Amino acid sequence: MSPVSSETIVACAEPKAMLDMFVQHIGKDHGIEFDTADDGDVFFEQSAFRVDFGLRPDGLSVRLSGPNETAISFLKEEVVEHVSEVDPKAAADIRWSGGRVDEGSHPENFRELTVLKSFEVFAGMQRVTLSFPGLDKVEGEGPHLRLLMPLERGRPPVWPVMAANGSPVWPDGKDKLHARFVTIREARQEHSEIDIDIVIHAGGLISDWATGAEPGSKVGAMGPAGMTSLPHAQRYLIAADGTGLPAVAQLLKRVGDQRDGDVIVAFPSSEVAAEYLPRTGLSVHVMDPAEFERELVPLVKEITDERVPDFAFFAGEFQNAQELRKHFKTVLGLDKTSQLSTAFWRRGTAGFGS
Ligand SMILES: Cc1cc2nc3c(=O)[nH]c(=O)nc-3n(C[C@H](O)[C@H](O)[C@H](O)COP(=O)(O)OP(=O)(O)OC[C@H]3O[C@@H](n4cnc5c(N)ncnc54)[C@H](O)[C@@H]3O)c2cc1C
Repeated sequence: MSPVSSETIVACAEPKAMLDMFVQHIGKDHGIEFDTADDGDVFFEQSAFRVDFGLRPDGLSVRLSGPNETAISFLKEEVVEHVSEVDPKAAADIRWSGGRVDEGSHPENFRELTVLKSFEVFAGMQRVTLSFPGLDKVEGEGPHLRLLMPLERGRPPVWPVMAANGSPVWPDGKDKLHARFVTIREARQEHSEIDIDIVIHAGGLISDWATGAEPGSKVGAMGPAGMTSLPHAQRYLIAADGTGLPAVAQLLKRVGDQRDGDVIVAFPSSEVAAEYLPRTGLSVHVMDPAEFERELVPLVKEITDERVPDFAFFAGEFQNAQELRKHFKTVLGLDKTSQLSTAFWRRGTAGFGS
């Protein structure tokens, strides 16, 4: 699959202030630092994604590159959303190069999925199997889906439609939707069905939906998108709490069983971990989910004191992600091509990263 890109100029009176807003937001929430290119533009790169910003006489130029159209469409939406927070007119006027926007239609990467079954995979983790029409057409586009459902339980859904600025228009008021990212644990092309595994926690609509998902009911989904390849390494360090376990299962399939490295994961027991994860040659360290957030960083430090990885991955809670990113970069000397520490959720904040 060849990478795609798209660009725009955000017409605004103060492009420097707009740029500062992006740099601050992306740095603070995602822990991503910018580099400066030879021509003075600033950019960041993360796995197959790259975003460039440049100051122009007529506004702020933005160029997005990613592995496929779906990945780019999520980035476009983020740009429009952040511009609209400071300048709604500039956001409405955005037009992207390449690809026609089908204004008023559902986003191209949107589809309705049907619940086939829902059951507990192990204590604290619920699996929902969904029928996914056209699954073969999105093979290899990435592991993550954004699930959509009405915020008001039981309300007939009103799904988003595209605007000319490349961003979906989300229904408001009583029709407001709840949108959260999840990961495809398993895709069965031959049956056009997928499994998603959801951590059960208090006060979460997705979590509640997963436990009560009725066969035959519908849920909206945008995607899939996300990291499509795993860099080759001599020694891996892969860590995740429950929210990152489906991603870890996918990564381990790619690592195979020949490599050196460590996997640190939250499971109720080693037996459950062995059943859930694909067979791996890496050393698996299982931690109790209740202790994971507190004990993870010390354990990673202990392990990496002895065995320094040349690729490190973490997915889980925001504070853990921040601390590990710092450790990966400053202590282990890994860079943006050899470490990825991502917040999948944030304690005390609903919808972080959605
Ligand atoms: C790329 C990506 C992939 C993801 N894949 C998965 C996946 O495969 N499986 C999965 O379970 N999650 C996954 N997540 C995380 C998931 O999107 C969040 O946990 C989300 O907040 C759940 O939505 P909710 O409606 O249940 O709760 P929200 O409405 O978002 O949050 C309500 C409250 O619950 C808290 N909360 C949220 N998640 C948790 C948690 N796990 N444990 C304890 N408290 C929590 C919040 O801090 C908030 O206080 C992924 C996130 C990203 C960004």
